[in-house]
Order: sequence, then structure tokens, then C-alpha cells
Amino acid sequence: MTRVDDDGERPWSSALPLPPGEGAIELRYRVALRHQAAGPVHGRDAVPRPSAGGWQLIGRALIPALRVDGAPVDPPATLELSLPEGWARADSLPAGAEPVSLSALRDAVYYVGEFRRERLARGAVEIEIVSSDMPDAAVSELRLLVERTLTAGESLLGALPPGRRLLVYDRVPQGFEGGVLGDAITVLSSTPDLARATGPEGAIVVHELAHLWSGGSEPWFGEGFTRYFEALLQATLDGEEDVEATRRLVRRHEAYMRGIGERSLATLDDDLAYDGGASAAYCLDTELRARGAGEDVAARFRDARARARQEGRSRPSRDDFLAALAPEPRAYLESLVRVAGPIELGPCLARAGYRVERVGYRGYTPRALALELLKVTSYSMQRAEIFKTLEGSAFRAGDIIREVDGAPVDSVPAIEPLLALARRRVSVTLLRDGALQTVELPIPRVSPKERARHERLTIAELDASHAASPFSTAPSASAPE
Ligand SMILES: [Zn+2]
Repeated sequence: MTRVDDDGERPWSSALPLPPGEGAIELRYRVALRHQAAGPVHGRDAVPRPSAGGWQLIGRALIPALRVDGAPVDPPATLELSLPEGWARADSLPAGAEPVSLSALRDAVYYVGEFRRERLARGAVEIEIVSSDMPDAAVSELRLLVERTLTAGESLLGALPPGRRLLVYDRVPQGFEGGVLGDAITVLSSTPDLARATGPEGAIVVHELAHLWSGGSEPWFGEGFTRYFEALLQATLDGEEDVEATRRLVRRHEAYMRGIGERSLATLDDDLAYDGGASAAYCLDTELRARGAGEDVAARFRDARARARQEGRSRPSRDDFLAALAPEPRAYLESLVRVAGPIELGPCLARAGYRVERVGYRGYTPRALALELLKVTSYSMQRAEIFKTLEGSAFRAGDIIREVDGAPVDSVPAIEPLLALARRRVSVTLLRDGALQTVELPIPRVSPKERARHERLTIAELDASHAASPFSTAPSASAPE
């Protein structure tokens, strides 16, 4: 057994020697997942699940397939986890178990496993790309996207402070995930496709790299502004048309609008904070751009970074950013964050030069019905596993939906049409803690207010020059650092 001790600040470059003996390594991990304490940035928090040959902790760490002389050695490894009170699996750290820091754990497993390593140096900034199971071509493609994103990011948000960063790139059976732990980034992917920054996997890479500049503990700021920078960088990297980039923002805004209820951005701590915060950043950007040339969110953010760096912090906090705004735009942003219910995107699109039309909505689409009925904000499409729920939901994180009205289902696309067929009530059978149970759910009626929330905004261009449209102009020049 290799013991991983928590010595606090172990640098990730320190290699653990391979234990003596051949093929007989058993690793027994004990992990304490400390929400928000693990790093400066919230990612999605989730319990570990198996990856192609190891384990992943989404947004926190990746424990790769471990091999010695080509033979996998980790299948008998166990991962024991404790979550703070109130979390789903608070009981799993055995009595007497010593928690280890995830960074120490990550360092240890990388240096006893086999992996491919690539260094990417840009002046005093070094990024080490590590992968245990991606093909060489995929890692090279990632390297190219990282280089281009860093160039666009430094132009938009300013030079990065010197130092080394780790980017872990590995496979998972399905989907795409990413996360940040300090200056270490994890990107997990089932089908590597990094040709487009706007593609699903490219978006994860761009988002996680944007966290080299931005973060912060309030999700609407830490994640929402990061999502907004992700969108600006994607548009630059893919040479996206202004109207296309704006449409993508509008589609994301609609998802946030449906889920937020009467909550304000300030209180959001789920995935809606990403898109709601991005909408707030967009609105602020149009407001700043309408006020004068050279004024925009990126310029204010660079100013906030300079303030944060004076105090030895690499990423600005919400307060650093607010302090970098003039009184009027600051009051505007604060009002967006406080308002109950969804913020209005229409006036912001109009400031950007778009004519906005609302398209009426007569009933739920199958997707909207599923979200409304299950009261969930995040789930795995392929496995019908619930990740995040809204208040009042009959489900909780970790539930896997198995049947709808007696019909077996194994994915979200299989569930949606069955829900749409149900009339007054629908019964849903789910797997929870290893046992099946069934819940009865009433089919919601669409109130006029709900109907308004399911309207679609469509945008039509007014003219060719969108002086205040954030996606139409090249990023404003970065101030010399
Ligand atoms: Zn993020």
C-alpha cells in the first residue's frame, strides 16, 4: 500500500518513488472533499465515479489509470470519501481515517502512474500538460488550443503572472467535464474533438483556462464572469460572427431564465449562476461600451486584477471588480445581482444594436417539461443520473432514473417523450443508494407567468455597426503590465 500523507504544501513536481516489488501495488485513497476550501474556484462537486481506468472527482481531481510495465494496477484501489454535514455521503469516511489533501493525492498518483507529459512555455508561464490515456494526436491538438487560448486571453484579460500550471487531460466513458484546483486544471473527455473552441469539449478547455484569470467565491461572479470570458474568447478563436455569438448567449440565458424562479443571482449556487452571471456580465459590457470608447468589462477586469495583485492575489474578487467600476455602472451591476427572478436581457441586446422579438410559447417542450417536472438543473444526458436539483424536487444528487410510468429508460432523451405523454400524474422509478423506489409527480400546468419564461428571444440585426456589441469588436488592447 502506498500511503499518501497530507503535508499541506507538497509541490506537484515532487515525485513519489515507486514502491519496491512488481505488480503488487495497492493504493487505498482516503479523501476528504472540502467544499470551497479545496480551491479558489467552485467547480461542480460530485462524488467520485469511475473513469476509463481510474477514478474522477469532477472539478477537483483526477486519479488516472495506474500502470506498471503496461499492466493496470489500480482496479482493487478503493476511494473513500467524506463530505461535510448536509452532503449526500457524509458517512463514508471510516472511523480513524486520516483525510488527505486532494492536491497531495493527485501528485502522488501521477508520479506512480504512467503518463505522457508536454511542456508549453510562454515566457515565465509554464503549462505542463499531462495525460495518462489520451492518444498523442489528441494531446497535440489540446496543446494548440491551449496556446491559442492563452494568446487571446492575455490580449483580453492581461498577462498571466509567472509560474507553473498543470493541465490534466484524460478520458471518461461519456461526456465532457472540467475543473480547477488552485493552478491545476482537469479536462475530461470521452471523444476528443478540439477543432473548435465553440465545440462542447473546446468550450470546457477555454472555460477552465479562463479560470487562470478569473474566479472568486460568489458563483455569479466567479463562474458567471468566467463563462462570459469563455464566450468572448470562443468568438475570437473561432472567428465567430457577432450575431452567432450573441445567439449562443441568448440560448444560454433562456435556460437560466427557466430555472431561476424568484431567486436572485446573488443567491445562486448551482449551474444557473454560470449563465445568469454571464448575462449580467454581458449587460454590464453593453452599458460600459455605450458610455465611451475603450470602456468595457475586460478593461475593468484588468484593473481589478491589478488591484488584486497588489495584495498578492492572482484572481480578483467580486469586491476588487466592483471597486474598479465607476459609481453608476457599479450600481447597475449590483441591481442586476439583487433583482428577484431572471434579469432582462432584452434591453441589453437592444443596447448592443439588436432588435429583439419574443416568440410566443404555447406549451412545454419535452426538455422544458422534464426540467420543470423533475426540478433538476443538471443531469447526465446519457445515464439519466441527477447531479443538481432545485428546492422541492423529489430527487437528489446521485439518483438514477430507471423507469417512467413502467417503461424502462436509460437516458434523458428516452425520458422526455414519456413525460410528455403523461396526463395528470407520472410515476418515476429511481435507483437511490442501491435500492429502487418510485415517486409520483403531478404534471404541472402552464401559468401565464411560466409561459412568459418559456418565450424565446429572437434577435435581428439592426445595422452593420454594433459599436456597443461585445462580440463585434476585437478585444480592447491590454494595458502594459
Ligand atoms: Zn468554472
